[in-house]
Amino acid sequence: MLEEFSYLGAAKAREIVIDNPVKIAGMIEKISPVNPNKCPPVIENSDQELRDICYRKAHEMYGEDLPKQVSARLEKELNSIISNGYAVMYIIAQKLVWKSNADGYLVGSRGSVGSSFVATMAGITEVNPLSPHYYCSKCHYSDFESDEVRSFAGGCGYDMPDKKCPVCGEQLVKAGFDIPFETFLGFKGDKEPDIDLNFSGDYQAKAHKYTEVLFGEGHTFKAGTIGTLADKTAYGFVRNYYEEHEQRKRKCEIERVTEGCTGIRRSTGQHPGGIVVLPHGHDINEFTPVQHPANDMECGITTTHFDYHSIDHNLLKLDILGHDDPTMIRTLEDYITSDAMENEYNADHPFIATEIPLDDKDVIELFHGTEVLGIKPEDIDGCKIGSLGIPEFGTDFVIQMVQDTKPQTLSDLIRISGLSHGTNVWLGNAQELVKSGKATISTAICTRDDIMIYLINKGVESALAFTIMESVRKGKGLKPEWEEAMKAQDVPDWYIWSCKKN
Ligand SMILES: [Zn+2]
Repeated sequence: MLEEFSYLGAAKAREIVIDNPVKIAGMIEKISPVNPNKCPPVIENSDQELRDICYRKAHEMYGEDLPKQVSARLEKELNSIISNGYAVMYIIAQKLVWKSNADGYLVGSRGSVGSSFVATMAGITEVNPLSPHYYCSKCHYSDFESDEVRSFAGGCGYDMPDKKCPVCGEQLVKAGFDIPFETFLGFKGDKEPDIDLNFSGDYQAKAHKYTEVLFGEGHTFKAGTIGTLADKTAYGFVRNYYEEHEQRKRKCEIERVTEGCTGIRRSTGQHPGGIVVLPHGHDINEFTPVQHPANDMECGITTTHFDYHSIDHNLLKLDILGHDDPTMIRTLEDYITSDAMENEYNADHPFIATEIPLDDKDVIELFHGTEVLGIKPEDIDGCKIGSLGIPEFGTDFVIQMVQDTKPQTLSDLIRISGLSHGTNVWLGNAQELVKSGKATISTAICTRDDIMIYLINKGVESALAFTIMESVRKGKGLKPEWEEAMKAQDVPDWYIWSCKKN
């Protein structure tokens, strides 16, 4: 450039090419094309509302004087949630779930939300993460501390024996899955919580529409995605280009050009359940342009033009997914209720799936054979157990796992789910231990929490137990000094072997 401006003379050229641009740059403040601020939606009084909802429910279940386990957990969680500014997320989830329930559809919660007792008290999930316990819904007697109850620690309350209230004689309610809150907000309380909800596929569109009611029209957008060119597709494009242009190229040249094309933008799409919320007082264009997906002006959907990952540090994204399970349960409820009316049994009481106790003997029998269904394996293509129609328990892989492990309790079934959803935890690992008799479904490593809880119980220091759990979970195995620390606390060799296989 100095050469281009040399006709002005060396000094003037230098002023124009170097000094003045630096001056101008110095006058301009730094701006980002994307608003750098976090802009969560605001719902008036959500902190207090969340508190009120939780305490109302807790008193309803556990009485006027809350057991200390209930009040301590509730306070710890509420303080952490509110001080981090997450109350609004809970209130949004609570409103969506209550609305769906009122419209007759259950909502499945997925992921870590089950570890939050506030989520239980707010009616977002039915999973109660407290330690196993009994409580009386009539006189509010509760038992969190007897030896019997404590012997179910780490398992689930539904596996405890049925019991009558020692005070008033009412049947006691069994509850508690014993999940630490740390799973949800992280051990330092700094993990952004994500509340993923599975709505019935039939209801999903209504739930999406309801977010417009909550936040106002024009304040909700579908989360946009960007589809990129996959390497195989790019390879085809490049090869076809040279063919059509009658140019002969060597394979390595085609591969070189392919590398340059892979990953470039090909199309825009939308996340199947993601809704991005724009708070009042802002314009969506501060964060992202918006568009109709795939340039289809006719479709009524507006998506963010930027991939939602690029703006999820600014705007809240809700995951409102569509799932078959709530639809199946609703269909089953409708079917059984109408059958009962037609055939005049239980005609005055509609069938409600959640009224089936979680420790129902006949349900557990489904995992042992087909007799309880009144059919033979031949009737269902040779399948030896009755779990074909149960979500997550109907594939050959899981059915084989169920036959190998012979679950006896709800806790066992949950552990099987852990095994079937993890990577490298069953095949060549827990399966061999169960087959050789070294471990059972109750002792094998089935979930990541297992490792930490087991090691702490063995006497390994809790911070180290957490570090080991995280390392094993990420497939990074064990450091030699950790192995020594484990052996020092009599952790058996098979357990260490299993950790290394993860
Ligand atoms: Zn009682």
